Amino acid sequence: MAKAHNLGFPRIGARRELKWALENYWQGTTTRAELLETARELRTRHWQWQKEAGLESVPVGDFSLYDHVLDHSVMLGAVPERFGPTGETVDLDTMFRMGRGRAPTGEPAAACEMTKWFDTNYHYIVPELHAGQRFHLASTHLFDAVDEARAAGMQPRPVLLGPLTWLWLGKIKGADFDRLELLDGLVAVYGEILAGLRGRGVEWVQVDEPILVQDLPRDWQQAFESTYSRLAGDRPRLLLATYFGPLADNLKLACDLPVDGLHVDAVRHPEQLQPVADWLPGRKVLSAGIVDGRNVWRTDLDACLAALAPLHERRGDDLWLAPSCSLLHVPVDIDPEDGLDDELKGWLAFARQKLDELALLETALNAGPAAVAGELAASRAAIASRRASERLHRPAVRGRVAAVDAAMGERDHAYPERRERQREVLDLPLFPTTTIGSFPQTRAIRASRRDYRAGRIDRATYEAAMREHIEEAVERQEACGLDVLVHGEPERNDMVEYFGQQLDGFAFTRQGWVQSYGSRCVKPPIIFGDVSRPAPMTVDWFRFARSLSDKPVKGMLTGPVTLLNWSFVRDDQPRADTCLQLALAIREEVLDLERAGARIIQIDEAALREGLPLRRSEWQGYLDWAVRAFRVTANGVDDATQVHTHMCYSEFNDIIESIAAMDADVITIETSRSDMELLDVFEDFEYPNEIGPGVYDIHSPNIPTVAQMVALMEKAAAHIPAERLWVNPDCGLKTRGWPEVEAALANMVTAARELRARRA
Ligand code: GLN
Ligand code: ZN
Repeated sequence: MAKAHNLGFPRIGARRELKWALENYWQGTTTRAELLETARELRTRHWQWQKEAGLESVPVGDFSLYDHVLDHSVMLGAVPERFGPTGETVDLDTMFRMGRGRAPTGEPAAACEMTKWFDTNYHYIVPELHAGQRFHLASTHLFDAVDEARAAGMQPRPVLLGPLTWLWLGKIKGADFDRLELLDGLVAVYGEILAGLRGRGVEWVQVDEPILVQDLPRDWQQAFESTYSRLAGDRPRLLLATYFGPLADNLKLACDLPVDGLHVDAVRHPEQLQPVADWLPGRKVLSAGIVDGRNVWRTDLDACLAALAPLHERRGDDLWLAPSCSLLHVPVDIDPEDGLDDELKGWLAFARQKLDELALLETALNAGPAAVAGELAASRAAIASRRASERLHRPAVRGRVAAVDAAMGERDHAYPERRERQREVLDLPLFPTTTIGSFPQTRAIRASRRDYRAGRIDRATYEAAMREHIEEAVERQEACGLDVLVHGEPERNDMVEYFGQQLDGFAFTRQGWVQSYGSRCVKPPIIFGDVSRPAPMTVDWFRFARSLSDKPVKGMLTGPVTLLNWSFVRDDQPRADTCLQLALAIREEVLDLERAGARIIQIDEAALREGLPLRRSEWQGYLDWAVRAFRVTANGVDDATQVHTHMCYSEFNDIIESIAAMDADVITIETSRSDMELLDVFEDFEYPNEIGPGVYDIHSPNIPTVAQMVALMEKAAAHIPAERLWVNPDCGLKTRGWPEVEAALANMVTAARELRARRA
């Protein structure tokens, strides 16, 4: 009998119950007991749902009060010294201090770094590693969860993050060393954990080792063999779980490890199912990740059954069916979404619906499709309706995409000639100063947006309020003495949602939350159909801002790659095709802004880098279409119009050539924290256009001094000719307060003046 199972369930709660419970606890308005009670209720409810869907066992330990990687660091006793002595077990507030720097008890300390979990928008807390580090079992939370699940009448299947992935995700603090030296001590603790679980009668444990889908050095591949050999013996059976990509050159390694089952992602890489089935020894369980854990679409059950039937024949009982990865990355439940029309809603499946799909597949395989004929027919009808819908396929959009030619991605002339034209028009000083776009989103701004959305104020009142905020932002920028102004983006709640709401082909949910980090969630838009722009989106605001000043005002847009990477994207065509539709829509806006008098247009591509595939061999393919989309968006303008782009990260040494190929006249980037380290890349690669290396760390409330910013810019000037440098913050200022922003920008302008004076 084939068996449906799950790799992990969203923790935050269908109504974000965990978010509110955490934030209340952190603020001191509720007790620890109340927080733990909410968490327990959520776990029980989620297990119940999974059981009701028809799963025999439920994942346990996938729940977390902050982050599962952090839970493992705590469980392994890997608590950095600055959080104080921990004793035998690590206290809950110590864990919170590691995650966010402070907690109701204990001294505040610098939080551990946070970074993206593979190619998702989930952030994990980076383990800190140092030479000679020791580990010990420092938490019983997994054991407690097993007991709790049993008491709730569940069959628990604990989930562990594997030792190699934990180690790989860590970051070395202090002197460099080979982190594999830590493996011995680490594996000893894992052995203890597995023994403890066996002592509790656990039959199967899921061990996640997603790094197996990445390019691994030889010694890491060998470490997999030695680690899992060491963990063989007296322990529960192990299901090794991989996801997000292809095993590729690790396929044989993964199949041959001394474990009892292997889970592979058969959604992103369906082609690996067959070779895995061939290589995986017959006595091992093959878990096919057949339902998409990264996207929100209903599964094509017929197609799944066709792919699974031959495997089922060969492997029988040893075939398990699962989502491609943990369901952490999708919202909880589509049913309560009453803002979507029925047709569109019928195309979607969130976590709960995905479990239903798995249960259906299980029955269809074991008892034959006839046993669930009605359900299969309903699913088939929904799939067919989506495929045929005119809302997806709009000939006008298709026609425009088909007509895209090379010339559309090309400026009239190369940068050096454009530069001359732009200089005449803009007449900017050396080291021009500007900001990245947003200004503090004050309580008043958020209240106006909220009131308008809720219908408490009318459009005219709302627009008048926004104009006031724009006026204020322009006045303050003039007062600071900035050279290139922005309107401040008060009307934007989010840089993707704002545009998505004005484009055709996008849909929005009310409760489609996905955890981003800690208690923070995002609600990604859903791109379901062909994208087009019915009307200008930003032009009126721009025009108003421009009327307020004699200085150049930038038009501000979000680029196609970022709109794509921060949404749930349709899966019925290549992402590259959807990206090009987005590019054409934003291109129209670019051209309208230009017609409205914008001499500078900034197109933010904050998420370009995070779209990089996990395997290096796939990078170039992605970069090629992403850069093409940007070029189509931006390059329809006149030579005299200056195109800016912005990227808020600092690691792009490895993709600098593609960044240069975007051919933006000016790029602004994040650099202040890394002390301009990233500019080292310009030693080897001569970036041809202008660049604004951020000098003001907007993630910190600290006000940078004139001297600090001058020093940073002088460092930059050592790599890039001064005539091609801009002076600006690292990113937008929407999360900051006005007093600090004004002080910092005034210092920034003084710094620019000093830099100019030194060269006069
Ligand atoms: N223009 C946006 C802002 O200033 C850019 C935000 C970002 O890069 N994340 O807020
Ligand atoms: Zn940014």
